[in-house]
Amino acid sequence: MRPEKNRLTAKTLDGAQIAATIKDELKQEILRLKSCGVTPGLAAVLVGRNPASEIYVRNKVKACEALGLYSEKIELAASTSSAELLDVIRQLNARDTIDGILVQLPLPPQIDVKKVLLAVDPLKDVDGFHPVNVGNMVSGRPGMVPCTPAGIIQILERSQVPIAGCRAVVIGRSDTVGKPLALLLLHRNATITICHSRTRDLPSVAREADILVAAIGKPALVTGDFIKPGAVVIDVGINRLTQPEEVRAVFHDVDSALAQLRAKGSVLVGDVQPEDVREQAGAYTPVPGGVGPLTIAMLMVNTVRAARERRGTALHP
Ligand code: NAD
Repeated sequence: MRPEKNRLTAKTLDGAQIAATIKDELKQEILRLKSCGVTPGLAAVLVGRNPASEIYVRNKVKACEALGLYSEKIELAASTSSAELLDVIRQLNARDTIDGILVQLPLPPQIDVKKVLLAVDPLKDVDGFHPVNVGNMVSGRPGMVPCTPAGIIQILERSQVPIAGCRAVVIGRSDTVGKPLALLLLHRNATITICHSRTRDLPSVAREADILVAAIGKPALVTGDFIKPGAVVIDVGINRLTQPEEVRAVFHDVDSALAQLRAKGSVLVGDVQPEDVREQAGAYTPVPGGVGPLTIAMLMVNTVRAARERRGTALHP
């Protein structure tokens, strides 16, 4: 049930601002590398014409340009075979000007995703999806950490949210977000619960959380009854609503959401009900402007780091 009062007390965790700070800090490191003759380079591989993927890759390339990194977008037909994609990756592995290789997911169904992720040189694996990097992360060794989970840790740490000793509940167990994030929180001494589509009585498990993370991909699934008053809520979901009935099902203030739909043609919503979270949480990440900008910032961090580490100790400060 919704609380009667509309208190709107939660603090917004401004992901865009935190991402801007991280990119500013990175500029010094990029200048230092350039003074040693190295311009970090990122190759983004896009297969097919998924509109969301096209936007993500465009934003990643733009971020590289803004920081003075070299970037290359490699667009392949939707009919590309696993063998053809593996060949492209082999060529990128061999090129010295490319420090980071990003294969935008999802890939078309005919492509063997696991084989493709295994083919990326672990030193250039800026998404942190190669089993070598996954293993390093599990065992707490240095390595590439997936961008979205790494960005969420940055939001928490830079907002002085205490992690050690807290109860953290992560809803979603994907290899790209939920699982790695749970590990990163565990390594920072949180007590972790990972929930998923088969979890029983999800709201009551979620209500135990001091830090609640929703990485589900279901619009506003997390409502007020999932949130312990004062909890920190991290909303990873990005869901685009295009139909009036979808908007009506999600928002309490239906009129203003419908006005936004009419004006823009779609309404973005996370996995957390945006009005409930403002009333119940202590702090929360908005959608848009929360986790999303950090994902790109951490990709830049990983690319610069790959450029430095691939060349060994010579470029370490
Ligand atoms: P995914 O589909 O791989 O995983 C979703 C997870 O949610 C699964 O583990 C599943 O068990 C769980 N789940 C599904 N329905 C559930 C339910 N009813 N109750 C409880 N758990 C349920 O998705 P993903 O790649 O982890 O992405 C999740 C969301 O985060 C998506 O909206 C995606 O677009 C978004 N995302 C955002 C960023 C960003 O930068 N902001 C980055 C990656 C993903």
